[in-house]
This record gives sequence, C-alpha cells and structure tokens, in this order.
Amino acid sequence: MDGKAYIASLDDGRRVYVGGRRVGNVGTDPAFAGMVAKIAATYDHFHHDPRARDAFMTPPTDAEGMRAQAALHVDGLSHATYTSLMTLLTAADRIAAARPQAREAVAAYVAEVRAKDLRVVECITDAKGDRSRPPALQDDRDAYLRVVARRPDGIVIRGAKLHISLAAVAHEMMVIPTKAMKADEGDYAVACMVPANAPGVSIVDVGNGEAPAGADPRDFPYASRDSNSQGFVIFHDVFVPNERVFLDGETKLAATFAHALGLWVRASSMIHICDSYDVMVGLAQLIAEANGLERIEHIKSKIAEMAINATLLRGTLEASMAHATRLEGGVLAPDEVFTNAGKYHGAAQYGTMVRHLLDIAGGSAITAPSVRDLENPEVGELVRKYMGTKQSVDGAYRTQLFHAVHDLTTSAHGGARYVGILQGGGGLHTQAVVTRGRYDMARAKRMALESFGWKDPSEESALAAE
Ligand SMILES: Cc1cc2nc3c(=O)[nH]c(=O)nc-3n(C[C@H](O)[C@H](O)[C@H](O)COP(=O)(O)OP(=O)(O)OC[C@H]3O[C@@H](n4cnc5c(N)ncnc54)[C@H](O)[C@@H]3O)c2cc1C
Repeated sequence: MDGKAYIASLDDGRRVYVGGRRVGNVGTDPAFAGMVAKIAATYDHFHHDPRARDAFMTPPTDAEGMRAQAALHVDGLSHATYTSLMTLLTAADRIAAARPQAREAVAAYVAEVRAKDLRVVECITDAKGDRSRPPALQDDRDAYLRVVARRPDGIVIRGAKLHISLAAVAHEMMVIPTKAMKADEGDYAVACMVPANAPGVSIVDVGNGEAPAGADPRDFPYASRDSNSQGFVIFHDVFVPNERVFLDGETKLAATFAHALGLWVRASSMIHICDSYDVMVGLAQLIAEANGLERIEHIKSKIAEMAINATLLRGTLEASMAHATRLEGGVLAPDEVFTNAGKYHGAAQYGTMVRHLLDIAGGSAITAPSVRDLENPEVGELVRKYMGTKQSVDGAYRTQLFHAVHDLTTSAHGGARYVGILQGGGGLHTQAVVTRGRYDMARAKRMALESFGWKDPSEESALAAE
C-alpha cells in the first residue's frame, strides 16, 4: 500500500467513536487527520518500496540488525505492528511443543500481514474489574475478555481491551490474554486476530495529549508530531474463524503470550525512553547556556546526574541487544533481564529527569509567550527583547527552547508521555517481577557466599555425595 491506499483502506465500515459521536470515515475525519497523514507519509516514504517493507517486518538476525530495525519504526503504528508480529512469532515458538499448529497458523498470518501491508495493534490490557479477584470470580464475567461460544468454524469472544494505542487507525487487532490463567479459566485463555471492522467491534477513541485545537505547532513541537491516540476497544460477541485463533482454552500457555508481548513492548519502549533521556539532557544544557548558568556548580551536577542516567539506560539497551538469544524458529529476542531492568529504571527515573530539567529551566517553561506573540507587530519585538538574555542569545530562540521543555514535560502531551512511559508495557511492578524472576540469583548467592569465604552449601553436599 502507498499512503493513498492506506487512507482508503480505513473506510471499511469500522465503528469508531470520538467525543461522543460516531465517525463516518476515519481516513477523512478531521479528528484523525494528523495521525492518518503521518502514517500515510511513512507508507509513502519508508514502506512502499517492497524491500523497505520486508526489512521492517523481518525479524533481525543480529544486534546490528536490531538497531537498524528500530530506525524503521518511524511512526507508532509501524512500531506496534512490528511488536505484534514479534510477539506472535516468539509466543508460537515457545508453545510449539504443546500446540504445534499455532506455529503454522502464526506463520500464515504473518505472511498475510506482509503481503497485504497491514498494520496491527496490541490488545492485551483487559478492563479487569476488581483487581484483587481473578477473571472467573469477577461480578461481571466479561471483565476479562473471554470465549462465550464455540462453533465448528470458530469462536465468539466478548470483553474489552483498554488503552489500545492507535486502534482506530489500524487494520488488525492482536487479542491476547493479559496474564497467566488458572486451570478453571479456560475461556479466558484466548489469543486471536480480529479485523478492526469485524461486526461487534467498537472503538472509542480517547485521544492522548494532543496539542490544543488551533494551537501553533511551534508552541507544541512534540504534541503536534508525536501524539498517538488511545482506543477503548469493545468486543461484543465477535466471531473469529478458526484459522485466526492461536490459543483457545490451554490455560498453561496463556502467560506465554503476555510475556512475549512484555518483552517486545519493553524493548521497543527502551529505545523511545533512551532518546527522550538524551533529548532532556540536551535541553537542560541548552537552557543552562541560554540562561548563562552553565558553569554554576549545582546546575552542572544536575546535568551530570541526567547524563549518567541517560548513559546507563542506553548501556542497558545495548546490553539487551548484545545478549539477545535466538529462539528455535530463528527470531532473535532481546535479553529479558536487561530489557526489564532497563525499562524499570527508565520509567522510575523519568520523574528525576523531568524534575532536574524543570528546575534548571525556571518558570518560563510554562509562562513563555507564544511564537505568535513574538510575531505580533506591536508587542513582538518587546517580547523578544525581554526573552533574550545576552547578545548571543536571541529571545525568539530562548522562547522556542521553553516551548520544547513545556511540551515535553508539563503540557497535556508531556503528562501523557510520562504516564505512557510508566504504564506502557505494564507498570513498574511487572518489570520488577520479571527481573527478579529471570535474574541469575544462584550466581549472586554463590558470589555472596564466596565473598566472605563460605563454600556454597549445595557444592559441599554434592562433594559429600561423591
Ligand atoms: C499511553 C499508554 C499506552 C498503552 N498502550 C497499550 C496498548 O497498545 N495495548 C495494551 O494492551 N495496553 C496498553 N496500555 C496499557 C498498559 O499496559 C496498562 O496501563 C498497564 O498494564 C496498567 O494497567 P491498568 O492501566 O489497568 O492499571 P491497573 O492494573 O489498575 O494498575 C494500577 C496499579 O495497581 C497495581 N495492581 C493492579 N492489579 C494488582 C494486583 N492484583 N496486585 C497488586 N497490584 C496490582 C499495578 O501494579 C499498578 O501499580 C497502555 C497504557 C498507556 C498509559
């Protein structure tokens, strides 16, 4: 598909709602114009060439390929598509012994997505009801998406998936369980693919930190470029044919899909967080220089702490690729411990990065006049004069710096970015659980014992047994 074909493909009868109204055609509705134009442009400029499309949808085979892959995910939707396909390939590989037919079904599905140049979003997070109760003990049995009927030709599913990035503008929904399921939760152990326009699917688009209506994009440089709206996706008795069902009822395999998605989403968001960290270090230094404070001790030490965080985070990202492991089906998967520990650190320290940046920037981060004020023939020159700090620092340039800081941190977009980094791919707790579970604890315990001259008791008993 090129951009034009992508826009036309969205006029497929899907049920999308925004701000309380039903959208006729997502491809041409003004509410989606910015996002659709951006995705259409990447179809035209990056993926229309079949070689580019193949590169973007083909699993990399080495760390260099993984880095190159990241550069191809120029919009959120190609990013979600790649993550979804990698999740399916990884999960199919891990469950192949118990459900060999899943590997074939996934391979056929991935080939279809590539051939038709489709875009896929990840539907994992359920409504979840009362968080303290498992799916089968909820007051409303649909709080977790489940199979409500089985037919010879397929299944019927019911439930909702929340916070689904870019659902309204995608072609396909990858529906997978959000967590491990117990033996009596077979109806909830379901993984399948659903087209966005399938009967019974409704997508309530809730936006996600866009620039205010009518705002000048120069005042909101990130919101006007990087906002990906979120979908509240309802599956009300949706039929899914057998060939699109990868898991149905095998509770022991349910967690495999969630773990595979967690790995790929966190690996992808690490790239995004690393870039955000470096941008924040750069902005802090630029503002410090523009304010004439770059040699002041407390400013230097705050920027040093930001740079240390950015460097350690990028080091973890690099380590996750350098220690990648090859799955049986050939997919190279990033290392789980480095990925989860890195994502945790990136999300947990994000607040510190924002604090230092805002501390260094001063109040103009939220009170700088707009770029249009600067251009006003009556007041513009005076605004520019007082926003300047010295001859080498133009008031217009310094104003633009403050708009960048504002939009990255405290605007609606900045807030959405923070929540996205904290919760996207699962909250902090989920990364802590995976890191502790996969960390080489036996090695750490052995090292601890050896550090004070104690023999590992398990080695002692092995020797005694000999
Ligand atoms: C910008 C953004 C984009 C997203 N994109 C997607 C997407 O594309 N696809 C998708 O499927 N999801 C997506 N998510 C959802 C994301 O994965 C969830 O927000 C996250 O997993 C947390 O779930 P929740 O929002 O329901 O919060 P909750 O589950 O209510 O969690 C809130 C807090 O309660 C804790 N908690 C919850 N249950 C328990 C429990 N039983 N025991 C102990 N502690 C508990 C959590 O650890 C957390 O600290 C996105 C989220 C955001 C913000």
